[in-house]
Amino acid sequence: MGRSSYQNITTRPCVFLPVTIYYSQRLEKRNRPLSRIGSGIHGWPPVRRRIVTSVLNNIIPALISAAFAAVYAAPSISVVPWNGHAAAYTLTFDDGHSTQLEHAIPILDSYELAASFYLISASLPGHEQEWKDAAAAGHEIGNHTATHTNLDSIPSDSVTKEVVGFKDTLEQILEVDITTFVFPYFAGSGAAIPTVASAHFMARGQFGDSPISWESDADWMELPATVANTNVPLSQYRAWIDNAAAQSGWGLLCVHGFDGETCCSIEPDMLDDICAYLVQKNIWVAPMSVIGSYRLAKPILESAPALEDADGITYSWDIPDNFPLSVPVLVELSVPSGLAVVQANHVIAAEPDGTYRIDFAAGEMKLSDPGTGRRPGARPYRPRARVPHSEERLFSVDGARVDAGDISAGVYVRRYAGGRAQLKVRGVK
Ligand SMILES: [Zn+2]
Repeated sequence: MGRSSYQNITTRPCVFLPVTIYYSQRLEKRNRPLSRIGSGIHGWPPVRRRIVTSVLNNIIPALISAAFAAVYAAPSISVVPWNGHAAAYTLTFDDGHSTQLEHAIPILDSYELAASFYLISASLPGHEQEWKDAAAAGHEIGNHTATHTNLDSIPSDSVTKEVVGFKDTLEQILEVDITTFVFPYFAGSGAAIPTVASAHFMARGQFGDSPISWESDADWMELPATVANTNVPLSQYRAWIDNAAAQSGWGLLCVHGFDGETCCSIEPDMLDDICAYLVQKNIWVAPMSVIGSYRLAKPILESAPALEDADGITYSWDIPDNFPLSVPVLVELSVPSGLAVVQANHVIAAEPDGTYRIDFAAGEMKLSDPGTGRRPGARPYRPRARVPHSEERLFSVDGARVDAGDISAGVYVRRYAGGRAQLKVRGVK
């Protein structure tokens, strides 16, 4: 593989030896933030320490990058907006009412849509298995505090118990990973946010009908949502969805129960109509953790440093805390001829439209000779979590890929792209 193959690719600088050394040292310290490089300068005045740290961390690499930028280029990564859809939408169900198990999940499953369910401790007794089943079917279980308390009105040690303690409880009882949070009473003001952010990568916190943008940052710990109610007509739900689509954004809807009594409830038929409309508009409907991690992966992937070594080009990036264990992301990049997209020693095949579905949670991607991608003794790639509502693939029970058009009587295994495990086994006639 010759370097000349990269010459005609316009893009971000790919820097060689000096920066390779710099970043390889950085990667060895992978779990230690770069900002700590200057922290050994004890006893220096803070201002001088900051200056030296800044020179070490920013200015020197920038100068080196600039010096080599003109020589070689690596293909830039571009994340496909909203997983290939014009807009995204998340249906969030708060408080873990049993009516959600009774009504919401069968309706969502009938459309093969996945949603987020924010539970409190009262949601669990007698329903543990049903929530586990919901998670196994691709729905997200999230944290809504243990006792549905207003976090603004309790002392900080109680906040920790309500937020972090209950997250641990949910994870243990339901055997799921909890990554997102919803503030009770839409009360997401300042004091509790650091505690929530210490254990979740995203939270919903306020009323609001502005969709979250693909391009610009949102307040990731206080995402806005529109709110269901029994007196809200279908035309209003459609208008909210249309608004998200018109702005190529991500909308969230907050729903509570189906009993018509509590605030924010909805009729089952109305939810059915909303699901039908989302499907009809080809909007990406998925849990907050799925869409949120996809959206946050975008700027990180698109600015990931690219380095060349003997095997090809390696992009690497840091994964934010409390992220889902698998974050499939659809990316566009011009792969130089003779090279393949490789993650964890496995070649990622191009999708029919030429994009690639990579796993952001791998923290690294290579463009390398397919022959060098697989090393003797390397462990096979096992993405670590299920991926709701991404591309589904069918396999026979012995593991062979089956095209949907070739299904005959028998038992098949459904997997989602990037998912680790069998989701359902069912007979197909
Ligand atoms: Zn609530």
